[in-house]
Amino acid sequence: MFEKILIANRGDIALRIHRACREMGIKTVAVHSTADSAAMHVRLADESVCIGPPPARDSYLNIPAILSAAMVTGADAVHPGVGFLSENATFAQIVEEHGFKFIGPKPEHIQIMGDKIAAKKAAIKLGIPCVPGSDGPVETAEHAGAVAREIGFPVLIKAAAGGGGRGMKVVYDANELGHAINMAKSEAKAAFGVEAVYIERYLGKPRHVEVQILGDCHGNVVHLGERDCSLQRRHQKILEETPSPALNAAERNKIGAIAVAAMRKSGYQSLGTIEFLYEDGAFHFIEMNTRLQVEHPITEMLTGIDLVREQIQVAYGAPISFTQDSIKFQGHAIECRINAESPANFHPSPGKITEYHAPGGLGVRVDSALYAGYEVPPHYDSLVAKLVVHGSSRNECILRLRRALDEFVIGGIDTIVPLHQELTTAPDFLNGDYDVHWLEKVFLRT
Ligand code: ADP
Repeated sequence: MFEKILIANRGDIALRIHRACREMGIKTVAVHSTADSAAMHVRLADESVCIGPPPARDSYLNIPAILSAAMVTGADAVHPGVGFLSENATFAQIVEEHGFKFIGPKPEHIQIMGDKIAAKKAAIKLGIPCVPGSDGPVETAEHAGAVAREIGFPVLIKAAAGGGGRGMKVVYDANELGHAINMAKSEAKAAFGVEAVYIERYLGKPRHVEVQILGDCHGNVVHLGERDCSLQRRHQKILEETPSPALNAAERNKIGAIAVAAMRKSGYQSLGTIEFLYEDGAFHFIEMNTRLQVEHPITEMLTGIDLVREQIQVAYGAPISFTQDSIKFQGHAIECRINAESPANFHPSPGKITEYHAPGGLGVRVDSALYAGYEVPPHYDSLVAKLVVHGSSRNECILRLRRALDEFVIGGIDTIVPLHQELTTAPDFLNGDYDVHWLEKVFLRT
């Protein structure tokens, strides 16, 4: 097994990876910016290296600095975590070229799935159903018009290099299309450095249902069920649950089998998540994330399987340690993303944590790097904690979640805990009756 892993990330996810390593007897190297010198991931790691100033482009995205840190500490593998360089194929390749193992899939898989147009083409070839739309980039108003006539309005213009819920534009009629395409192209160029955009049918009431898969280098691929991530604000997930309240067993097995067959055919190795929109009994592929997912803990709670441990083992060359048939999906699990934001207007709320008390008890897990006295820096993602709860039924899980939310004390900054407290008593949520537009349109009325 690896002896030392460099964790090229920060916050709760760096801690999550450190914990798996510690339990596996693997030493850890934390990297950090000058803003994170006192961060928990640095304090808990066996060794730490400062890789630059606060802006992520100078530190957590600084490939030469991260490689130097791996060299001077004698790490034998690099775990990219979530975000930052985790879906950067060039990084994966450079890491391997320098003799370290990249804990993730092959660079070519990251490359294809990182370009949403290439990803959709690959998905179609692999037998995965997609949202109807253009079969490549859309350059002109005429081309866009022809595609839109075929699939029907409203349509969604998406950036090929988009991510994080950014770079999408809904267009309701043909007159707006030419202008919208030009705008979307220049915005995509500015935000992602790539101009290419494509068109999809804009679905009116879809749920976001994603399938967790795991592959190894021996040809084994399994799926670990689905996660329903429909509760979103600005296309960003706020609360996730598994199993999806919308799926029946037959649909679950069907989409799991499609995902496994596709990944086996493509030779995918590592953790990955295939994201679908589910509407009127049909699944439509939207993208694949070739990395560990923020919401992975709900799958772990449901199955009892340590996904990060498996990911590290398969990167080392070991086979998956269990079979598809041996997985037991038990009960129900929900994750609340706790962001350091005002619950009223979602403005970021960095600052010093004056008090901290995390909930506990049966079926409650908190993944967070917070502690009393810690200063949440303003430079990074606002996610500061994940509250993950398991119950034997959805109802028990929700009651436990509410109890845990009431116990959570994070003093000194604003968080969206109050939003979750309200959300988890909303009748539509209790009935499992929501789609990707519900949180904004019905609950927040924005
Ligand atoms: P990103 O990579 O930026 O996260 P995705 O393609 O994964 O973008 O989509 C994010 C979210 O945007 C989806 O979960 C869904 O809420 C919404 N979305 C994406 N495509 C469509 C579509 N064709 N129709 C309706 N909503 C969509």
